[in-house]
Amino acid sequence: MAKQDLILLALNPAPILDLMDRTLHAAGFEVARAYDQTGLNIAVQESIPALMIIGENLAGKDGLTISKDLLERFPTMPIVLYADRDITGLAKSALKIGLSGYLYPPLKMSDIVDEVEKSLARGRKLGDWLRREVKRTTSSLAEKAEISETERNKLEAIIANIQDGVIVIDQHKNILLVNRMIREIFNLNGKETVGRPLVDVIPNADLKALMVRSVEGPLKYHEINFDDGRVFNAQYTPIPKIGAAVTMQDISYLKELDRLKSDFIHTVSHDLRSPLTSILGYTELIERTGPLNENQTEFIKRLQGSIQHITALVNDLLDLGRLEAGFDTRRETVHLESVLKYSLDMFDAQIKKKKIQLTTDITKDVPPLRANPIRIRQMMDNLVGNAIKYTPDGGDIRVSISIVDTQIIFKIEDTGPGIPIDEQSHIFEKFYRATNAPEGVEGSGLGLSIVKSIVESHQGRVWVESFNGAGSLFTVLLPTQE
Ligand code: ADP
Repeated sequence: MAKQDLILLALNPAPILDLMDRTLHAAGFEVARAYDQTGLNIAVQESIPALMIIGENLAGKDGLTISKDLLERFPTMPIVLYADRDITGLAKSALKIGLSGYLYPPLKMSDIVDEVEKSLARGRKLGDWLRREVKRTTSSLAEKAEISETERNKLEAIIANIQDGVIVIDQHKNILLVNRMIREIFNLNGKETVGRPLVDVIPNADLKALMVRSVEGPLKYHEINFDDGRVFNAQYTPIPKIGAAVTMQDISYLKELDRLKSDFIHTVSHDLRSPLTSILGYTELIERTGPLNENQTEFIKRLQGSIQHITALVNDLLDLGRLEAGFDTRRETVHLESVLKYSLDMFDAQIKKKKIQLTTDITKDVPPLRANPIRIRQMMDNLVGNAIKYTPDGGDIRVSISIVDTQIIFKIEDTGPGIPIDEQSHIFEKFYRATNAPEGVEGSGLGLSIVKSIVESHQGRVWVESFNGAGSLFTVLLPTQE
């Protein structure tokens, strides 16, 4: 028995209080008294007792409520309730709120000591269990922390040695981490990085532009160019609760390949154009050299058709080359609705022939664009031409021009075969033709790449929305001020 245990008696002054005091003293306990709730609180604060005996009524206050409050503060404290008589239901209430024992007269000295020792033993067991649990949980937490420390080291080693550049920033765009590759790319060796604003550590204009564009959402493609010819593709990925990650891959060799391919196509197209012009010229001259029979006339016609086809292809290729090289700098005031009108007039015969229902919806007072009128017309012709080409006879085409803020929005929707979802990102690539393009509908796959280059050279955007089999909707967004 722990003889130095302090027992606090919170009872109204009465002979039973003296009896308890004497009995417990005699049994070797230290005893303290409190006659009301204030005294009880002070006594508890001064020295946390090992056990309390609380009167069912303490200076007019309900002993059960007082005990309940105490248990909320000291959940493992053994409390014994003392009642002047055994009232029905009181023992039940005492157990319900978690008291350890219940005493009521007639009391023998041994009853008091037995109840106190029993409750103390139970309290100790509870305390031991609690200590063990705390120890177990703490050690399992420590284990977890250790695992995550190892995991973190592993992750850091992977990020450090990865061949892509990785920057992790917090929500205020301060650097949390840069890997070895980023240090090499931006020549940061020896520079303090962690905790500093990204724009201060790496004052690169393209990277700055990426951060600005990042508000639009995760970006798949953004180029970062260096004066020495290196080109990187950068992606910005938001990381919830942390900030964001910027990853960069070196695509210089791909860019070089692309340039070589474009140069090759440009040279070949250029060299083909003169002989094609002279072949077409001679086919026209043949007709003037004398009368031709029916077969000869038919063959010459086919020859001319094919030459015009190749010439159109070569012209498209040359146009693309020029657009991609950034030669399109001519800017004039262009009214989009006038361009659309001319384009629709040109296709009028085809629209009528295919019995296509054409609807136009043009917002009033659309402001003019600063643009290259020839290119804008080319873009419009390609989109309108495709809509007519791919829409079956008797179908519908809806064209609209509207304005939102400073952007002009041109939409063209048809009831053609649509474009499969997984091919929608490819149709703006050179020579790409969708797998569901109807048989007999000819094309080179260059029209939409020209559209994209023209739109982008005017700082605009173009995209398609289409559910396979349910028509296509092409949208072009052009800023009124570049
Ligand atoms: P093409 O000369 O083949 O028409 P484009 O570059 O203009 O080349 O278009 C690329 C491909 O996109 C087309 O081959 C076709 O499969 C698809 N496409 C373009 N416009 C439409 C449309 N309005 N409806 C259905 N498919 C289209």
